[in-house]
Amino acid sequence: MAEKMTHYEQVVHKAREAFMSGKTKDVSFRKQQLKALKLMYEENEAAFCKALAKDLNKPKQESILLELNLLIDDLRHSLARIDEWVKPETTPTNIVTIFDKTLIFHDPYGVVLIMGAWNYPVQLCLLPLSGAIAAGNCAIIKPSEVSSATAETIAELIPKYLDNECFQVVCGGVSETTELLKQRFDYIFYTGSPQVGKIVRDAANKYLTPTTLELGGKSPLYIDESVDMDIAVRRILWGKCINAGQTCIAPDYVLCSKQVQNKFVDKAREVLQEWYGDDPKSSPDLCRIVSEKHVERLAEYLKDGKVVIGGDVNKEEKWVSPTILVDVSPKSKVMTEEIFGPILPIMNVDSPYDAIKFINDRERPLALYIFTNHYDLVDIFMEQVPYGGCTVNDVIFHAAVHDLPFGGVGNSGMGCYHGKASYDTFTHRKSCLVRNYNKIADAIGKKRYPPYSEKNMNFLASMLKEHSLPSFRMLPYVIAFGLGVVSVFAVSKIAKGDLREWMNRRVGAAIELIRKPQT
Ligand code: NAD
Repeated sequence: MAEKMTHYEQVVHKAREAFMSGKTKDVSFRKQQLKALKLMYEENEAAFCKALAKDLNKPKQESILLELNLLIDDLRHSLARIDEWVKPETTPTNIVTIFDKTLIFHDPYGVVLIMGAWNYPVQLCLLPLSGAIAAGNCAIIKPSEVSSATAETIAELIPKYLDNECFQVVCGGVSETTELLKQRFDYIFYTGSPQVGKIVRDAANKYLTPTTLELGGKSPLYIDESVDMDIAVRRILWGKCINAGQTCIAPDYVLCSKQVQNKFVDKAREVLQEWYGDDPKSSPDLCRIVSEKHVERLAEYLKDGKVVIGGDVNKEEKWVSPTILVDVSPKSKVMTEEIFGPILPIMNVDSPYDAIKFINDRERPLALYIFTNHYDLVDIFMEQVPYGGCTVNDVIFHAAVHDLPFGGVGNSGMGCYHGKASYDTFTHRKSCLVRNYNKIADAIGKKRYPPYSEKNMNFLASMLKEHSLPSFRMLPYVIAFGLGVVSVFAVSKIAKGDLREWMNRRVGAAIELIRKPQT
């Protein structure tokens, strides 16, 4: 049987066998794998930085702060909380099930596929991985072929640190990924463009595999005259210039009045000169564009408006300088396609309401940025604009708060991760109601059986109805019910094999199981 399997079938089969063995259900195993992942980042900082520099000319500061440290901090966060996260939950019951108990177990999905994009090639593959491990899954990791040096580094290091059966890396481009997607996974976590997101979702549909899609799009930024322009411009330009604008939540374009635009551009000129000097291309602090094809795409955008800062392009050196465009048309390519480069167009609007209308007339953004000192205006944006995540008076930072779920909505994606949200994403919450043979509960419950009657139907309907206080019409029932409850508690105090005791033992055993001592 095994000889007849294709390579990808074997990869998935191996992971499935490992999952079925139950080893990932043991929380001490999960913790040990998370610690090994942390060690991998700590011991291989130089190798990762080298690969990121090769792929994107990523400066060390960006590689450390926006990739490796973020991953290490996420692992610290998970390791400190995993014992709490894995505990089965219980919920209140309704009147009909008042003598019963509920439990919600946290089940891993099984074998999950994680596909990353090239722009943050370490983080986008391995941040979801930590959530998958914490939740007890096995994972196949598929890094982007576009950032090939980082993909090779991941493929080389993961087998040295993680369990080889549970966690495997598969490299390759479109044809390999197309084959891989034919396999049956229990969950697919994809990061990349909305176009490929649709291909991934189509493939997932074959087996009704649940998916998280972390996609992109245009992330708008609104700024008004009330801000401290020096601070605001620095924050905005930093968000546009890191990774040369190839950041899914980079501010894509600015919406503001003409007066604010003039102040913004003057300040931006001053700040860019201070950061990168007269010749930004020679600055060690700016990344390169990932490929010549993307440089060509970005160069086209420069025709869509008036370049007031930058506009320097060199295809061979994969270079586009930090650029600001004004006088752009809303129908132009730069205002309709995701820019994903260091070009910032400014669109003039007459009021915040015009800005809201402009945003809401387009696809739902992954990120929204509002720069204002009028906090009532923030409320209006929050109320009226659907978006994935938002930072007010700064950019990018909402993605750095572990407990803020990160993800898009509509065309910018579905599902979310980071911190506890990563654990939840890779967890199926398995519900269970445990009943017993209590006579009073059965006296109420047996009114559901035939022969049906109007009286029984009305009684059961009122019992099942969600209400905070019983009405007087129900008083006789409530009294009878109350007496029943009192007597049942009295009986259950005495009776052996009490359900409550059983439940306590069951929850205790479940906690014991997932808290096996570390080996
Ligand atoms: P990419 O080219 O690296 O593709 C992403 C993944 O899809 C890769 O693993 C790749 O191998 C695979 N892939 C590409 N084409 C495929 C095909 N035809 N069939 C099957 N698999 C295929 O990355 P990209 O799509 O250029 O990424 C850029 C986009 O990703 C932007 O839109 C950006 O906003 C978005 N993005 C989103 C996030 C987020 O967290 N929401 C993060 C980073 C990037």
